[in-house]
Amino acid sequence: MVTQFRKGRKSRSAARFGPRYGRKSRKLVADLEEKTHAIYDCPQCGRNKVSRVSSAIWGCAKCGYTFAGGTFIPETSIGKTVLRSVRKSLEAK
Ligand SMILES: [Zn+2]
Repeated sequence: MVTQFRKGRKSRSAARFGPRYGRKSRKLVADLEEKTHAIYDCPQCGRNKVSRVSSAIWGCAKCGYTFAGGTFIPETSIGKTVLRSVRKSLEAK
């Protein structure tokens, strides 16, 4: 594909939008989509096989472990905070 070798390729996956929505919005979309489609490490077996099943659902192709995470990334900073406070309240009982 000729477009693949075009100099720069700043819009990446957001190239499907063409010149629409502005440069900043296309960059945001491309950044998010790159994170969404990336393969992550499995918290269960540790292998680099976790991909997004659907919105906020992540699954490991190796051990079948499925878990809820962020919409675009498996582990969010707010998720860590929530998990910590849940553990704390469980320990208190
Ligand atoms: Zn796994």
